[in-house]
Amino acid sequence: MIMQNICILGSTGSIGENTLDVIARHRDRFAVQTLSAYSRIERLAQQAAVCAARAVVVPDVAARERFTRAWTGHGGLPEIRVGKQALVDSAADPQVTTVMAAIVGAAGLPPTLAAARAGKRVLLANKEALVAAGNLFMTCVRDSGAALLPIDSEHNAIFQCLPRSADARARSERPDGVRRLLLTASGGPFRTTDVSLLADVTPDQACAHPNWRMGRKISVDSATMLNKGLEVIEAHWLFAMPVADIHVVVHPQSRVHSMVEYRDGSILAQLGQPDMRIPIAYGLGFPDRIDSGVDLLSLAALGHLDFEEPDFARFPCLKLSFGAVRAGQAACVTLNAANEVAVANFLGRRIRYTEIARVIERSLERQAGRPSCVFNCLDDVLALDRETRTFASELCLAL
Ligand code: NAD
Ligand code: MG
Repeated sequence: MIMQNICILGSTGSIGENTLDVIARHRDRFAVQTLSAYSRIERLAQQAAVCAARAVVVPDVAARERFTRAWTGHGGLPEIRVGKQALVDSAADPQVTTVMAAIVGAAGLPPTLAAARAGKRVLLANKEALVAAGNLFMTCVRDSGAALLPIDSEHNAIFQCLPRSADARARSERPDGVRRLLLTASGGPFRTTDVSLLADVTPDQACAHPNWRMGRKISVDSATMLNKGLEVIEAHWLFAMPVADIHVVVHPQSRVHSMVEYRDGSILAQLGQPDMRIPIAYGLGFPDRIDSGVDLLSLAALGHLDFEEPDFARFPCLKLSFGAVRAGQAACVTLNAANEVAVANFLGRRIRYTEIARVIERSLERQAGRPSCVFNCLDDVLALDRETRTFASELCLAL
């Protein structure tokens, strides 16, 4: 067994905390090289002390001072690195074997791409990186020979149901014999809410996911089902499948995490408790199976599993996502950036829940009037991302 030296990008988030929980159960397999955080700096100091991280990355000098003040660990302080470039350098650090990409949003794109370029074992939670720069990211993974392990529960489930690629190398062709990928979606907290009430739902209501405890941005994305749209794009890149063969099925219990339908009519599914420690443990241990700390699933206690078609009228963001995929990469960058701005404004109570779809729609309409393009470098992606954010922010102010 080879010891893995891990860098967790976004260790103070929901995925980051769950990753540290799994790692703590397997001290013989994993050492923590680097942790990073953007805002909860005191929590970062606690984490770094507990897992004896060798380095941490914080956003600015003020955060470095906060970290130093908060430090209560035995022994010396870890190395404290500052800023965006330090995040990129830490992901590509020669000491690091494995990178958990768990920063939320397009902010995670540069360091995630750096990890892929450096040929690391990349555990990918940050779906926004693939949505904004799927072709670029997958090219880097292929060229460097990086191992890529999907952590998003649906993609992890599909990975488990596909014929095993023992080394987790990137696929460049549609997997043999596969007819369709079936992505399950819980339908979130508003699956049955009267549509006329949605304009008045609060951020806390939108974040109260019935099955999963997650960060606030992805929780809102799950409520609007924009999250499922991002996941369709993510699946397209990860598994080299045409979007027309990726289907969404609503499954309120969130126990079937996704499925692969084969040519002969067989459907393989992966089931388990809705707890991210399962896909995280799978990614960390691969190709071995390791303990995740999650309770076993009792099918008899569950009794039944339900499935239904998604309702596009209730979830306009899902429809917008399919439109963006058809329109191409610039539309996907726009979809993602406009959504991040709209969700932040909704969480800050500056726009209504139903206006999230409006902001995305208007941003996509603006993009549709421009020539389509494919981006071959990160700077071009980031430039459109920034420009869309400006447009969407102004739109939010005007609403
Ligand atoms: P979160 O909000 O709980 O945590 C985000 C982490 O990113 C934190 O450590 C935060 O400090 C850091 N961060 C935020 N903004 C940053 C910035 N501008 N620069 C650098 N660091 C920044 O989010 P989460 O729920 O853990 O989700 C993380 C990623 O994983 C997202 O892309 C999400 O879509 C994906 N994901 C999460 C879950 C889940 O169960 N939480 C499931 C599937 C996929
Ligand atoms: Mg998911």
